[in-house]
Amino acid sequence: MTDVVALLRAAVGDAVSTDVAVLDAARGDKSGQRATGQPLAVVSARTVEHVQAVMRIAHEHRVPVVPRGAGTGLSGGAMAGDGELVISTAAMTQILEIDEADQLAVVEPGILNADLNQALEQHGLRWAPDPASRTISTVGGNIATNAGGLLCAKYGVTREAVLGLDVVLADGSLMRLGHRTVKGVTGLDLTALMIGSEGTLGIIVGATLKLTPLPTGAVATIGAYFATIEDAAAASAAITAARIRPAAMELLDPLALASILRYLELPDSAPGSAPDSALDRAPNSAHLLVQTDGEAAEAEARAALAIITYLGGTASMTTDPVEGERMLAVRRAMHPAMEALGQVLIEDVAVPRSRLPEMFEAIRVISDRHGIPIPTVAHAGDGNLHPNLIYTGDDVPETVWAAAGELFEAALALGGTLTGEHGIGTLKRRWLADELGDAQVELQRQIKAVFDPRGILNPGKVF
Ligand SMILES: Cc1cc2nc3c(=O)[nH]c(=O)nc-3n(C[C@H](O)[C@H](O)[C@H](O)COP(=O)(O)OP(=O)(O)OC[C@H]3O[C@@H](n4cnc5c(N)ncnc54)[C@H](O)[C@@H]3O)c2cc1C
Repeated sequence: MTDVVALLRAAVGDAVSTDVAVLDAARGDKSGQRATGQPLAVVSARTVEHVQAVMRIAHEHRVPVVPRGAGTGLSGGAMAGDGELVISTAAMTQILEIDEADQLAVVEPGILNADLNQALEQHGLRWAPDPASRTISTVGGNIATNAGGLLCAKYGVTREAVLGLDVVLADGSLMRLGHRTVKGVTGLDLTALMIGSEGTLGIIVGATLKLTPLPTGAVATIGAYFATIEDAAAASAAITAARIRPAAMELLDPLALASILRYLELPDSAPGSAPDSALDRAPNSAHLLVQTDGEAAEAEARAALAIITYLGGTASMTTDPVEGERMLAVRRAMHPAMEALGQVLIEDVAVPRSRLPEMFEAIRVISDRHGIPIPTVAHAGDGNLHPNLIYTGDDVPETVWAAAGELFEAALALGGTLTGEHGIGTLKRRWLADELGDAQVELQRQIKAVFDPRGILNPGKVF
């Protein structure tokens, strides 16, 4: 039998690790789930040539390959199991070019989103995708998952911010996709196909990114409280329907709000008293946070405020950017606050924005039916909800999967989707055909087979 690890070492030397701790870390991601068995090796690629050399070996010997960035994914997409070879692009962190005139950057895939944006700030530019994980996730991972974030409703998701990609295909060949121009429609849009492909079509080794100027003018932030989450969701839907475009618009249901305040050791600033235990006794307020930016920020915020108070919310507004950031920080603490409650299955459905109140109602019914706490936040500006199903023990209990299945069913019935930004990975595979239908799943499988005829790229993920 061929010693694949020896071949890898001969090709890329000390970039190969078989250290048990390194292999073990590659079995999981931030979903909290872990693959079974032990990966073959982890290659920490430092150059495009490393990735090509490793893919040539994997292709020839039909070794399954799991591409990996920072491993912050929430759908199990980067989890590597028995006998699988991990190619990490996390060490490829260079910014190769920042072009102020054409407002683009060329980067390696391993640079962290926040590090890139810090470098861009001095040029008055930014790369708009802003997942809440921006300080810990890679640009390559953001592209492979088509990551969203808090600012998507106004500034778009990752798909809107990528001009071109350099991709190593399954056989080790290098393909340059896309262009440096703002427009460009030559042939099929393979760049778009690659975005969100979760490591199943090729390995992203370079990206030409579309940048946008940092917004100027004031930032206005509204913190609003409502009696129920359905009322708060109705207000966010009304703000959208009124054609106001906040930079961020976030909803926190009462349980989510209470859990975060408790985690941050902040007093309950909402009307009503803080609960003794976030899971036992929810406070009586749902939270809507609206932030506007740019030249019209204050006027837009006042229009949003009028809608909120008309619909029964209690709200205050600030134009102090520090105070605004402090209010957003409460929302950004959602993930650690949930982890503090127990094991979490983080879900990620999206619905048309006008249907948000109905989706929140469905979540409450499902939570009551199964007796599972489901604190939920939503990027209300784009209809993307994150219900957090809390459980105990190492494995996700069947009742939690059943509740998750009902959440997906409810989202699809409202004209929504299984995943707004986290991807299918391994955790949502079983529901893929519910949304796409068997014929489309088959078409997508055939497309994958064209890119990856030997089926070695991230097998068992998505399909
Ligand atoms: C606290 C927290 C907050 C989060 N907030 C958000 C959020 O607001 N919005 C959001 O969208 N997500 C969010 N996420 C999820 C996660 O951070 C994103 O999915 C992120 O884009 C993953 O990047 P990564 O570098 O960690 O990729 P990984 O987790 O390593 O990989 C994710 C997927 O991309 C593939 N992949 C990675 N690198 C490459 C590459 N170079 N070439 C080909 N495929 C590759 C992997 O195979 C896998 O399928 C959050 C996660 C955490 C822990």
